[in-house]
Amino acid sequence: MRISRVAAVAAAAVLALSVAACGDNGDGGDGGENPDVASPSFEAGTTMARLNEEQKIVVGTKFDQPGFGLQGLDGKPAGFDVEIAKLIAAELGIPADNIEYVETPSSVREEVLEQGRVDIVVATYTINDTRKERIDFAGPYYVAGQHIMVRADDDSITGPESFEAGDKKVCSVQGSTPAENIQQYLANQAEQLVLFDIYEKCVEALRGGQVDAVTTDNVILLGFIAENEGEFKLAGEQFTDEPYGIGVAKGDDAFRDFINDTLEKIYEDGSYAAAWEATAGAFDDNTPTGPPVDRY
Ligand code: GLU
Repeated sequence: MRISRVAAVAAAAVLALSVAACGDNGDGGDGGENPDVASPSFEAGTTMARLNEEQKIVVGTKFDQPGFGLQGLDGKPAGFDVEIAKLIAAELGIPADNIEYVETPSSVREEVLEQGRVDIVVATYTINDTRKERIDFAGPYYVAGQHIMVRADDDSITGPESFEAGDKKVCSVQGSTPAENIQQYLANQAEQLVLFDIYEKCVEALRGGQVDAVTTDNVILLGFIAENEGEFKLAGEQFTDEPYGIGVAKGDDAFRDFINDTLEKIYEDGSYAAAWEATAGAFDDNTPTGPPVDRY
């Protein structure tokens, strides 16, 4: 079954990464070291004070995206987004083991924050004005870009313009910016655009020939390419910018400020770069330096 194959590949990748990182501090070998936990004090009544008091944070993230959030054999997700969440938790005085992860496919990210089912969403989550009507974003902490992935032996797709003739099918996920952005290139949306809840299903559809391409952010596609050696490749160039933010409940400005401060701190102290290198860095060796945060 596909899931077990993904899990096996993930386990192998995790093992390789633990070895590459020259040491595992017993955190379950999830691609990163557990950060040192701070002993902060927060103003009463803030989200930070509540989370610190509860000694627990609920994080919405992806479970199917290698390099950013991929569920491992221990049931927990691993990846760059997970490492960012751990660094935020550590600044709140919460150890990594006390993080509860909730799988948040693209289309439910605003909803889980509005309903208070999670405290933050770190899930390859592009900052945009439509989403800001319902939630707020700290960050960006990374800037990805939309790209197209095809089967390795297919040279017929060279960019989004290749969909304009109307004969190619492309897959993306519900509630994602790539699913929106690609529509302007489609001659017949109903025929050409296939949407699932998670990207892994698009990868299966591409493998099986039901679609001709998958479109989403470059770093997500690079993870699938690396995980399925020789099967897939990128086609053409990146054609959007996707600044990734950390979703928080709308109006929680103090919490947003705190996360922005934390991002600036981890850019400086090297833990941000180390988080990349232990995770998505396996597929993309352009270690980011951390984009300026937008304190809107
Ligand atoms: N970054 C894009 C978005 O937030 C695509 C990746 C995703 O679906 O998580 O919609």
